[in-house]
Amino acid sequence: MNEGGPVNVLRLHANNPSSYTGAGNNTYLLPGRVPVLIDAGTGDARHLAAVAGALGEASLRAVIATHAHPDHVGGARAMAARWPDAVFAKKPWPERDATSGVEWTPIADGDRIPAGDSVLVAIHTPGHAPDHLVFFDEDSRTLIGGDLLVAGGTVVIPASHGGSLRDYLASLRRVLSLAPTRVLPAHGPDIEDPARLIHAYLAHREQRDVQILEALAAGRSSVEAIVRRVYEGLDSALEGAAAETVLAHLQKLEQERRVRRVGEAWIPTD
Ligand SMILES: [Zn+2]
Repeated sequence: MNEGGPVNVLRLHANNPSSYTGAGNNTYLLPGRVPVLIDAGTGDARHLAAVAGALGEASLRAVIATHAHPDHVGGARAMAARWPDAVFAKKPWPERDATSGVEWTPIADGDRIPAGDSVLVAIHTPGHAPDHLVFFDEDSRTLIGGDLLVAGGTVVIPASHGGSLRDYLASLRRVLSLAPTRVLPAHGPDIEDPARLIHAYLAHREQRDVQILEALAAGRSSVEAIVRRVYEGLDSALEGAAAETVLAHLQKLEQERRVRRVGEAWIPTD
């Protein structure tokens, strides 16, 4: 295994705290030969000032986005206005990309992207969003992880808005196989033991499958009824996210032919 030196990555906070983003987003600047910013934040003036300050005399060459959720690309227009020569790049998600106000250069799985004084490998990791990419520095085994992993919590799979739990689990296993030593996430602190977190995520999702199958066996056939059973005493503000999670599991179980949909009802196949 190649244990190279640490890659030079600066964490620049996007200054966008909210109920949706928690403390707000981390963006990452790789300064050096080819200054590249990963994720555009939401266009907050303090974020743009932090990027400009970190660049010093250098000019931003590219902004690459992990995915098209608004807390990752909402600032693209403001970035393009400030750095008109910068290239904007991401994996295409055409219906979302059309509304972001910049022209995106497509990134494909496996593309090698010069960034800072390193080269990042783009890895397509759908699940949280269909266009989701993570960026891997092979020398330092550092992974810039977008919304794939978050320390101390789980990741929402928005089943009615392009999320897929089946894809997400495959993405987790793929990243596990890369053996990253450190993940820099878009939310929360650095993840120093990514394998442990991924194993915990896989076990957690398996346990949810079991709980949902038990709810179905007990005659709960709607998403709402399953949410009430599986998430007893849930804060009403979190019901929407819980419903998306249950739907994501049901869609996965349907793809595995362990449940089927009859009209509005979900029923186990055996
Ligand atoms: Zn997201």
